[in-house]
Amino acid sequence: MNLTKELKRFVSEDRVSKNETVLSLHSKDESFHTPRQPDVVVFPIDTEEVVNILKFANENEIPVVPFGVGSGLEGQVIPIKGGISLDFQLMNQIVEISPVDLLVRVQPGVMRKHLNKELGKYGLFFSVDPGADASIGGMAATNASGTTAVRYGSMKENVRNLQVVLAEGKIIQTGGKAKKSSSGYHLTELFVGSEGTLGIFTEITLKVYGISEMITAARAVFPSVKQAVQAAVSLLSLGVPIARIELLDARSIKQINMATGSKYVEDVTLFLEFHGIKDSLANEVYLTKELFIDSGCYQFEFESDSNGRARLWDARHNLFYAYLHSNPGKKMMNTDVCVPLSKLAEAVEQSRKFIDESGLDGTVAGHIGDGNFHAGIVIDPKNPFDMARANRVNEQIVDFALTHGGTCTGEHGVGLGKMKYQKREHGDALDIMKSFKRVLDPKGILNPGKIFE
Ligand SMILES: Cc1cc2nc3c(=O)[nH]c(=O)nc-3n(C[C@H](O)[C@H](O)[C@H](O)COP(=O)(O)OP(=O)(O)OC[C@H]3O[C@@H](n4cnc5c(N)ncnc54)[C@H](O)[C@@H]3O)c2cc1C
Repeated sequence: MNLTKELKRFVSEDRVSKNETVLSLHSKDESFHTPRQPDVVVFPIDTEEVVNILKFANENEIPVVPFGVGSGLEGQVIPIKGGISLDFQLMNQIVEISPVDLLVRVQPGVMRKHLNKELGKYGLFFSVDPGADASIGGMAATNASGTTAVRYGSMKENVRNLQVVLAEGKIIQTGGKAKKSSSGYHLTELFVGSEGTLGIFTEITLKVYGISEMITAARAVFPSVKQAVQAAVSLLSLGVPIARIELLDARSIKQINMATGSKYVEDVTLFLEFHGIKDSLANEVYLTKELFIDSGCYQFEFESDSNGRARLWDARHNLFYAYLHSNPGKKMMNTDVCVPLSKLAEAVEQSRKFIDESGLDGTVAGHIGDGNFHAGIVIDPKNPFDMARANRVNEQIVDFALTHGGTCTGEHGVGLGKMKYQKREHGDALDIMKSFKRVLDPKGILNPGKIFE
């Protein structure tokens, strides 16, 4: 069959591509996983085209892999069985902003930063911030979270409804506009985080928030991970509504200084952000500072102007690239465990120890208010010795998390890299997940070979 010719029956010629550069761009994401090109890349412009493509692909048992912008970290968009890469960059419209309902309805190719620029005109913002400027479709499909989840939650808490095209081309709505519902099974939660394996999102309704009257950021330096984590946990126990609380270990701060020319003290550091009303915010910041100093913090500095805040968060968000730019040609293997807060300090300390023992370089940083952190290990994916050592560190960290009631992935998703831990983490519940997959995608055309074989 001439796949390109067949697809041009549903989509205009200029939006079906077999160009070598385009195929290569759709063969990989930001992870270390081995690239594999799709047979063809298609750029749909509306739901009807997606329906027609899926009907055709299902009839002919051709794999379809949805593609946002490829910022994923577990190989989710790699078309390991070939087929069609369905790129949503042209479905990039904000369909409706409803300020009174605090909702926005978007197409999946809308980018997070663009959405926030438009919402800003209404005094609103969308909270989920994975650092990378990801597409809303990709973020919903990975249940992305990031720095602000401690206050506002992950995608699961912020997606109100999905319009989904199922494998055989049927369109469903998984929710509605109501703030809560006890009506039937909660399908939105099932589809959020399904990594393109259960259905394809063509519209997403998101919860949005009013922009706070005041935003203040701060940096708090501690002599040990244990003290920093204890301080963070005490803060959360007091009910201070902190909007971001990020931990970077001493090695990570050193890398940021090298990459950006900043002069942060090279010790365990918490980056913080507070959102609120002027008077109450001043009290919260004062309380935090006192509590932190009692917990061993020896430097607490504010970043109250917007440039200082932007520099702080850029430094945090660019940590991944700060390592890669000083190691040309290398990649990063990212762990992404999430553990109960009572085990967090030990988990972070152990992770640093595992990296150091392996002889590899890397960062330990994370969204500690959620118990979620990343060890990013610098590797040459073509060097079997590097890979063996990094895989060992990854396994040691996941083993610690699973032994203590945590999960192998807090936000990056399963993709290819965390597949091997699924049985251990979910036991017999994995069979229930597989049965949902069989019901929704009986021919297994949707992103095959991801989450489970
Ligand atoms: C430097 C860096 C930092 C990061 N930090 C974070 C972080 O803090 N928190 C976090 O959560 N993530 C983080 N990530 C990972 C990444 O940004 C997220 O996984 C993001 O959600 C992926 O969005 P994307 O648009 O790039 O999706 P892609 O990578 O293109 O796709 C991801 C998944 O979504 C599916 N998909 C895409 N569109 C659709 C659709 N319309 N319907 C159904 N399925 C679809 C794909 O098939 C794939 O399975 C980071 C990445 C980088 C590079």
